[in-house]
Amino acid sequence: MPQAPKPQTPPSTPIVVLLGGPGSGKGTHGQALASALGYEHVSAGGHFRDHIRRGTPLGRQASKFIENGQLVPDELVTELMRTLFRGCPAAKGVVLDGYPRSLAQAEALEEIAAAAGYAVTGALYLVISSDEIVRRLSGRWTCGMCGRTFHETSKPPARPGVCDACGAELLRRADDEPATIRRRIALFHEMIGPLLGFYRGTGRLVEIAAEGTVQEVSARVIANSGVSGINEPL
Ligand code: AMP
Repeated sequence: MPQAPKPQTPPSTPIVVLLGGPGSGKGTHGQALASALGYEHVSAGGHFRDHIRRGTPLGRQASKFIENGQLVPDELVTELMRTLFRGCPAAKGVVLDGYPRSLAQAEALEEIAAAAGYAVTGALYLVISSDEIVRRLSGRWTCGMCGRTFHETSKPPARPGVCDACGAELLRRADDEPATIRRRIALFHEMIGPLLGFYRGTGRLVEIAAEGTVQEVSARVIANSGVSGINEPL
């Protein structure tokens, strides 16, 4: 007797997660990876900063945690991510930068992604030393308008204090002050173990040495993203 055709499940749209300490280059390499893959780059911290700039209720709730170098509570982060993915057409892959940052968030992401037609295909862990984190963050300047980042020595703007991209003033992020940096590093070490275990246990973790020039590290990130066909023109 002929078998009725099985209902086809549409393939999920990929999400590549970037894990790494503060200043490990998630933003920079996340943008390079997204443009190499033709994916969307979604930064959790960037969305929070945008909510804070706009003075939304979410921004008001998140700002006190962010400015103190603490993590925003999981419920607020989950709310942000649910809203971002809900109603998203899943037409394009996503590079997720700075989310998840806890095991609970990683578990929530599985469910949020599946409900929106996505699946996390890989977690790339950018590995750098704590000394390098301090060096990078203490020289970092961020554009108050477009969020682009610069560094006093490794990526200076053409005109001191002015964003190359939009001409707005460059500021030091409140959470890039030395005492706050130390708090963020300690917190990162506390949280990362279970997260790495989660992705390692499901065969999706790739560790990437993230010290070197921006070009070298971005090339490593792209080559290890686990997405095939990325050397072909998009
Ligand atoms: P980032 O731009 O990734 O360095 O994030 C800046 C700050 O936003 C972090 O130090 C946290 O306070 C907050 N934040 C960003 N992503 C998350 C997250 N997934 N969970 C909790 N807090 C977050």
